[in-house]
Amino acid sequence: MNSHTNYIQAHFDEFAKIRHDIHQHPELGFKEHRTSHIVQQLLKEWGYEVHTGYGTTGVVGVLKKGNSNKTMGIRADMDALPLKETTGLPYASVHDNIMHACGHDGHTTMLLAAAKYLAEKGEFSGTLNLIFQPAEESLGGARKMMDDGLFKDHPCDAIFGMHNAPGFPQGQLLFRDGPAMSSSDYVTITITGVGGHGAHPHLAKDPIVAAASIIMALQTIVSREVNPSQLAVITIGAMNAGHINNVIPQQAVLELSVRALNAEVRSLLENRIKALVNAQAESFGVRADIHYERGYPVLVNTQTETDFARQTAIEFAGQDNVVLQTPARLGSEDFAFMLEKVPGCYLFIGNGEGNKEGACAVHNPNYNFNDKNLVNGGAFWAYLAERYLSHAG
Ligand SMILES: [Zn+2]
Ligand SMILES: [Zn+2]
Repeated sequence: MNSHTNYIQAHFDEFAKIRHDIHQHPELGFKEHRTSHIVQQLLKEWGYEVHTGYGTTGVVGVLKKGNSNKTMGIRADMDALPLKETTGLPYASVHDNIMHACGHDGHTTMLLAAAKYLAEKGEFSGTLNLIFQPAEESLGGARKMMDDGLFKDHPCDAIFGMHNAPGFPQGQLLFRDGPAMSSSDYVTITITGVGGHGAHPHLAKDPIVAAASIIMALQTIVSREVNPSQLAVITIGAMNAGHINNVIPQQAVLELSVRALNAEVRSLLENRIKALVNAQAESFGVRADIHYERGYPVLVNTQTETDFARQTAIEFAGQDNVVLQTPARLGSEDFAFMLEKVPGCYLFIGNGEGNKEGACAVHNPNYNFNDKNLVNGGAFWAYLAERYLSHAG
């Protein structure tokens, strides 16, 4: 075992206690006041310069050693989800319908574990920026921190982020070159016709029939227009229209989730959805209003930084505990905004598999972050920071 792992293992109870406390008091996006306060206090105690005012509750802990002008950032997210916890854990959420069901309590604590090691024992030369981010779940806390000057005030040569992954062996580190997670766009289509009596369809303009045709037509975009070698998804997750059998309603509303793994495909989907919906609506004599909201962009890992992090992971954990190329995922992640501005790598750490601890999927009411990863993940962050800000490099 390396000294990083030994140190965090020796302080395991302290870090598990921090994680359980954060878990027990989960906070939704941009409301992570208590969590942010805990992070600030600990960083100060350990000798970090603490900067706030980024994305409401975001925190940047800065530690400088030596005289190199190299800089790096490591980011953790702090927010919880609006979900009722059913784990029955002694430290289960005390807040009704708020739960750390994505393991951000663990991500925050892994980075705190690394922070303590790096302050006390870390041998490096350069500036380390530890970025604790609010509101990763849908609200785009990463972008808000950037809008508030994150990288202007704290420039980083590279940034790194990590998410736990249930279904993979605990502690395994997984990497992906290039596009690793999809963009996520949210589209609402409101189809307005003319309502009327169910007995007299010729006097109405039926938005339900138009919606049905639009739904089927949308299926042809991915199957017939996107290059089959590219990943893309159009899911119509909601359709709402009508209340009773003998009334033709005035409106039908569709809600879509649209995902892609590269920027061109993302634009193609947007252009084709708009063109097809408008043409279909016109053919039925109804009107379509399309609200197209671009959410998180495609998360693209840069080659040099991904190679570096992967090589470092192999040194740290051994070849057997590293997946060199994990499949890209059609989930999304707002670290993608940071990677649009700064080169870097987003990786995954196995949370447990099969019937073992940590295997339950994220966003499930029974999910729990695997405490063992406070050691594996925290020590890897510490090791990576030392390697990146090494005297030699
Ligand atoms: Zn999540
Ligand atoms: Zn998450």
